[in-house]
Amino acid sequence: MKPQTEFMEDESRLGSGKSDGSDKSDASDMSDKLGAHDIATFRKKHFPEVGDELWNDWRWQLRNRFRDMEGLSRVFRLSQAERAAVARRAGPSLPVGITPYYASLIPPNDPDDQLRRTMVPRLQEFDIQPWERTDPLGEEAHSPLPGLVHTYPHKVLFLATDFCATYCRYCTRSRMVGAGEFLPDKHLWEQALRYIREHTEIRDVLLSGGDPLILADDRLEWLLSRLRTIPHVEIIRIGSKLPAVLPQRVTPALARLLGAYAPLWLSLHFTHPRELTPESALACGRLADAGIPLMSQTVLLAGVNDDSETLADLFQGLLRLRVKPYYLHQCDPVAGSSHFKTSVQHGLRLLSGLHGRLTGYAIPHYMIDAPGGGGKVPVSPNHVVGRDGNDLLLSNYRGEVYRYPDPDLT
Ligand code: SF4
Repeated sequence: MKPQTEFMEDESRLGSGKSDGSDKSDASDMSDKLGAHDIATFRKKHFPEVGDELWNDWRWQLRNRFRDMEGLSRVFRLSQAERAAVARRAGPSLPVGITPYYASLIPPNDPDDQLRRTMVPRLQEFDIQPWERTDPLGEEAHSPLPGLVHTYPHKVLFLATDFCATYCRYCTRSRMVGAGEFLPDKHLWEQALRYIREHTEIRDVLLSGGDPLILADDRLEWLLSRLRTIPHVEIIRIGSKLPAVLPQRVTPALARLLGAYAPLWLSLHFTHPRELTPESALACGRLADAGIPLMSQTVLLAGVNDDSETLADLFQGLLRLRVKPYYLHQCDPVAGSSHFKTSVQHGLRLLSGLHGRLTGYAIPHYMIDAPGGGGKVPVSPNHVVGRDGNDLLLSNYRGEVYRYPDPDLT
């Protein structure tokens, strides 16, 4: 298990993180407008001495993450099975990390709670199925340099750090996140930048990790400004779960910084409608107001979000936050994730059920990442059910069949 001081030690390497004095979140005001959740009860019970200023300080949130048996036991009544799973974790396995903010969204007594399943280790993590892989997408085989993955010719995945505020138990990169191998190291970054500069076919750079928004503003700016000097890099994208698990990180200064490097897109990682809090609304609002297009990616997870009500609430709620639900991912076959797996058939049924129920903007593409580096493959419910002469037979969202005239015009 990583020591509790892991982030604090690294914080010094991540830059000064100087505030511009306007970083104090006004989430409590938003809370009044959007409806308070039970964060107040949690704070009163676990952090009665901590005032709003500290609670809304993202660095305080990181320093006070729950990272081990002792920490988790403070806020959750752990089941025997959870205790056994936390105790069994050892060596380089995926760390545990839950911010106080995110823990406040999770009721203390239910081991089957949807958010808790994604964050607290379970014994099934140790059951490795024959089809599972530590690197299911074959990223290492497509990695020309440490921290860079070049699968498609026109884009690269730039792993800027391996830190995350929280560690999702289904993470595709569980082999490396939190392991300290991809520290925000200028030497590695310069190598990667040189590679991108030399490969003029690269038009799109996706910063990921780990979570790049965990970097201090000055580090992030260093990287973004260098990328922007490369003429053929047209688009920068950043993948982040922080607006869901550490929305305090989205300070006005961060939003301004990101907004200055347009065209820059954010791929946010939301899993469940309970993550759509006044705090996450404030974070997304700041980013949207800074002119940053916001897309979301959701992993379909058994026992977490694999029912139509949950997905509909999540996707519709994201639109309200000005976030376009972009991808619904079938869970990658990463080692120890079989308890999160749903069948593709079930996923197709769920997606089918959303048509006609939600505005089209709220419906994401359902994607499978082809194992071994085959790239993303869209899968979609088949609404073309046959042909009768010149008519195509189409099934609508209610399962009713309609004819569409489609004569052969060739
Ligand atoms: S935030 Fe992303 S990279 Fe980090 S553990 Fe979760 S899924 Fe993995």
